[in-house]
Amino acid sequence: MKRNTGLQQISVSFVKGIGQHSIASLAELGIFTVFDLLEFFPSRYEDQTIRSFDEICDQETVTIAGEVVSLPIISFYGRKKSRCTFQIKADLYVIKVVLFNQNYVKNTIQLGDQVCIYGKWDSRKLAITGKFLGKDIKEGKASFQPIYSLRTIVSQKQMRKWVKYALEQYKNQIEDWLPESVRTQYKLPSKRETYQILHFPQQTHALKHGRRRMIYEELLLFQLKMQLLRKRIRESSEGVCVSVDKEEINRFIQQKVPFPLTQAQQSVLDEILTDMSSPYLLYRLLQGDVGSGKTIVALLCAYAAVRGNFQVAIMVPTEILAQQHFESFQNLLAGEDISLACLTGSTKAKDRQIILEETENGKLSILIGTHALLQERVKFCRLGLIVMDEQHRFGVEQRKILREKSSGQLPNILHMTATPIPRTLAITAFGEMDVSIINQMPSGRKPVRTRWVRQETETQVWSFLCKEVEKGHQAYVICPLIEDSEKMDLENALELYEKLKSYVNNVFEIALLHGKMKPQKKEEIMTGFKQGKTKILVSTTVIEVGVNVPNASVMVIYDAERFGLAQLHQLRGRVGRGANQSFCILIGNPKTEMGKERLKIMEETHDGFQVAEHDLNLRGPGDFFGYKQSGLPDFKIANIIHDYRALEVARQDAVHLIDDGELWNNPEYAALLYFMEQNGYFDAQMFD
Ligand code: ADP
Ligand code: MG
Repeated sequence: MKRNTGLQQISVSFVKGIGQHSIASLAELGIFTVFDLLEFFPSRYEDQTIRSFDEICDQETVTIAGEVVSLPIISFYGRKKSRCTFQIKADLYVIKVVLFNQNYVKNTIQLGDQVCIYGKWDSRKLAITGKFLGKDIKEGKASFQPIYSLRTIVSQKQMRKWVKYALEQYKNQIEDWLPESVRTQYKLPSKRETYQILHFPQQTHALKHGRRRMIYEELLLFQLKMQLLRKRIRESSEGVCVSVDKEEINRFIQQKVPFPLTQAQQSVLDEILTDMSSPYLLYRLLQGDVGSGKTIVALLCAYAAVRGNFQVAIMVPTEILAQQHFESFQNLLAGEDISLACLTGSTKAKDRQIILEETENGKLSILIGTHALLQERVKFCRLGLIVMDEQHRFGVEQRKILREKSSGQLPNILHMTATPIPRTLAITAFGEMDVSIINQMPSGRKPVRTRWVRQETETQVWSFLCKEVEKGHQAYVICPLIEDSEKMDLENALELYEKLKSYVNNVFEIALLHGKMKPQKKEEIMTGFKQGKTKILVSTTVIEVGVNVPNASVMVIYDAERFGLAQLHQLRGRVGRGANQSFCILIGNPKTEMGKERLKIMEETHDGFQVAEHDLNLRGPGDFFGYKQSGLPDFKIANIIHDYRALEVARQDAVHLIDDGELWNNPEYAALLYFMEQNGYFDAQMFD
């Protein structure tokens, strides 16, 4: 089939009225082709429908019309700033009009003229502050003025003109890649109508209609890209296939695991093992709230891979966590004749040499470690599984390096995270992965009781702490330490430690832990706490992720308002890991309403996913991931929070189009397929 050259290939210079100079300005806005121009949508609209006074509310932004009854008076202030005021009569009212920096109006209007003003209405003062729209009034006619984000590079008027010309000139070349049947099903306008509506809307209703279409289209295209990638990864012929002996694994669980798996753990384990032993490559994100028991799942997967004669790499973000995993793996695997090692930045040179050799010659089966695993000298001979614990702590690059550590085939990959990512975000940012969720806590866990108190009541908190310790429990006291104010924060932590120490007065042991200490010292302190010798551990956020000391029952967090919600939830997750009733005390004097709101959310919400939803709503998706990687695409119109329903629908449709081959087999999708081919959807990089 022969096709028109798409609008993506036609330069804006062919649009009437766009000259050499304008081309450069448009390029600055990222507009090069007619397609770019038409897809450059207004960022908002001004409702310039003239409204009657009965229906407008105080402080509403509206357009009103009236007859000029007093001549404009101009006053100047500051440098080049001016204020123009006059009165108009509308209905039975005399209204004061205030216009800033529009002194040309003085020479434009005369007594008796009918004028239109757009602005904020103050019903008490009977005044409107805003801008002068003009003299010709189209009474009763609805009118929305599109406002583009043009950063003063081109004027609004110019932009509107160009878009209008482009639409007229190319209206027969606008391709719609949504088939008629889909548009009918979802009641969406055609692409041409959509451009018309979004650039030149006539009513709110139509505008919603046009936006709905673009939202669906954007989300569908995005999900198609993700699903294609997912299919490619899963069906990659380069992936290793582990033969899993289910009976052997069940035996191991029966004999060695000290507790019965929760139903959620069991079903997630089954999902993972099925993928691992199938010709599909395992590429999965395992989500589970803090304390839901992800480690044992990782261990069982590792065990299965080793029994299938493969090596396993387990990467974690901190040395403390590497050490902890290493110890718990050692305990559980005792007597199983499986060799494992721990590699971190502080592993001694002699030990390191042996570990490297045995990793490369295959003697070693499980290697647990930090970023040290990424060093060039680390080589595996038959890597079958990679587990990334707390995966959100790693950047895209780091994940890639580890994947390429094996000489032969692609290893199975399991990412684990306790930062509960709301589903909408998960299927956006990790759309190409499969997602498993452990949505159940081990039995007997009690929700952590959380209280927010002010700094002034600090000593009451201390006395509560001591009472808990007297009952035989342990406690964490956390101070923030962020890079920007590192030095001061460290001093604060030291000071707090000294104060608490004299308060406790040698009745029991208290220790300080922070990131600037030598690894060996850190390990010593952690061991003391784990063994229960140390009762109170004053620490910076080095213990934020993963640390597991079930006897600890109190978590006190200083300057709680300085942490993000997800981080507070992670920290809180260090307690409530055993059968004891645990407590979390947030100390803070937040200065903003939002700050207070956040601490209240922590008091009321125990479920990590709910905490994350709140966090997402308060901060927006960009900030939510914050560090390292966001992976979130920039949508023009769609918003993954507000449009989560459309996102689900688009995802299901994309899965259907790809997995069932509809995209290739149904001629209705020819235009869509062509667009995807032209835009590199099929060449996207496997992984990241
Ligand atoms: P996380 O998911 O936060 O990484 P962990 O894997 O560290 O959680 O598990 C938290 C604690 O719960 C550990 O002490 C672990 O031994 C225990 N645990 C895990 N699964 C179960 C279970 N099914 N029953 C009882 N305790 C469990
Ligand atoms: Mg963990």
